[in-house]
Amino acid sequence: MEVQSSRRGSAPRNGVLPAGDRASIAGANLKSAIAMMRESGLRASAARRLVLEALLAADGPMSAEQIAQGIGGRVPSSDIASVYRNLQSFHEIGLVRHVHLGHGPGLYVLSLAGEPEYLTRERCADYSAVAPEVLDPVRDLIEREFGYRASFTHFPIVGLCASCTAELNATRRLRGTGA
Ligand SMILES: [Zn+2]
Ligand SMILES: [Zn+2]
Repeated sequence: MEVQSSRRGSAPRNGVLPAGDRASIAGANLKSAIAMMRESGLRASAARRLVLEALLAADGPMSAEQIAQGIGGRVPSSDIASVYRNLQSFHEIGLVRHVHLGHGPGLYVLSLAGEPEYLTRERCADYSAVAPEVLDPVRDLIEREFGYRASFTHFPIVGLCASCTAELNATRRLRGTGA
């Protein structure tokens, strides 16, 4: 069982793509993404290709703003309004998904990169992307106890990390509001 974590915007450690093989996988995905667009009747315009390239260059789920800014300069930046429009079109044909990793807007990922599920630490926004089978025991428990099959691709499992918990406890002790 491999659980890797990745801080937003850090090196690719999101557990989705195997390290070392990113370039060839990204190449294959750009081709399959463009093929999927064409099959769905979407023209592979320069603006749409830029959004795809940004999503492929990303280490994890990205906001529309981050995509428009070219993922910190890794790809050329694009117009935010067209990014929103194109993400919407990609969403409609199932080429992108989004996940809510915090209070902000949904963050986008290419569906072609697999269907990871997410766990997030709400205070420091650290998160892990894991293969669904890692969370199957959790899903099984929820199904047994509550009668439905849970999914953590759209909304993650949210909690506090150990160091944030320790910090909060220390703050509470200082204020005298708890042990
Ligand atoms: Zn949503
Ligand atoms: Zn934390």
